[in-house]
Amino acid sequence: MHITSAFDSGNIEVINADARPIELSIRQDNNSDFYQWFHFRLEGKTGDSYPLRIINAGKAAYPAGWENYRVCASYDRQNWFRIEAEYDGNTLDFTVDLDQPSIYLAYFAPFPWERHLDLLAWAQGHDLVQLETLGQTLDGRDMTLLTVGDAAAAKHKVWMIARQHPGETMAEWFVEGFLEALLDDANPSAQSLLADTVFYVVPNMNPDGSVRGHLRTNAAGANLNREWQDPSMERSPEVFLVRQKMLEIGGDIFLDIHGDEALPFNFVAACEGIPGYDKRHAELEETFKRAFVTASPDFQTERGYDLDKPGEANMTVGTNWCGHQFRTLALTLEMPFKDNDILPDPIEGWSPARCRQLARDIFLPIRETLKVL
Ligand code: ZN
Repeated sequence: MHITSAFDSGNIEVINADARPIELSIRQDNNSDFYQWFHFRLEGKTGDSYPLRIINAGKAAYPAGWENYRVCASYDRQNWFRIEAEYDGNTLDFTVDLDQPSIYLAYFAPFPWERHLDLLAWAQGHDLVQLETLGQTLDGRDMTLLTVGDAAAAKHKVWMIARQHPGETMAEWFVEGFLEALLDDANPSAQSLLADTVFYVVPNMNPDGSVRGHLRTNAAGANLNREWQDPSMERSPEVFLVRQKMLEIGGDIFLDIHGDEALPFNFVAACEGIPGYDKRHAELEETFKRAFVTASPDFQTERGYDLDKPGEANMTVGTNWCGHQFRTLALTLEMPFKDNDILPDPIEGWSPARCRQLARDIFLPIRETLKVL
């Protein structure tokens, strides 16, 4: 039996390979206490069973994330299915029955760095797309902005950023689906939007954390979604560069794409707690949510985060900073790590395919919101 995580977004430490169950531990994000993302390959004997135990699950960033959680697994790194797991408040236990010599296991279907580069390379070939490198991360990776549409002629500007929290790979699956639909000449929703709207898309806000196998932070250990009030090139260049571009360009809708460890639903969080939150904010938010419910049975509004009290928003959060700075609609979209309990999938749980479909369904709420701007 052999376990390795020495690859893109790999994360696991083998504590005791001779124990049964085999004892594993998730590595902390660099310079940070956060951890929960794992991704590794187990090689063994076809037909054998391998009981595994993540011994530090109970002290992970979101222990509630392990309740009713099923582990993502893949033999071919393309098709991901789920494996039942047991969480007792301290450890996460699951058993791998090998049908092939080796299997990949992860917290959610990984979105590889190479796939990110492929996405950018594919998108830049489209007439409507401009690729711009805003600058570099602390590890020297490019921060890339895709502008889709005619910036000079457009009436409306929509921003979409994803993966501030790198372990939330569902966010980039979503963006990939969004860009494919947006650049589909046969998609009437996309075509009608692009007639008067330009999209500014940052598919990966946290390249270093993604490659390092972090859950929540960049190379320096900064939680980027707490850096928006005062980002710096030393600690959070990712936010500094994108925020600077936002200030230069402005925008009418800001969408920040995430995943939630605990809640088995899709939902949005708004900026109701910011100073100056007004009727216009509320109306745009209502319009967007109503249209999203109509567009997708995977989206709902009954379950989500507790609302911030008036004036008590954390202004270091991207959505709150954008909603306040630009006095317009700013939303965090959360997708589940587990499954959508309203429409569960016993084989895959919440999956890349469902992320991509939800992205296709976000055109209607964007269109309806732009109408009432
Ligand atoms: Zn997040």
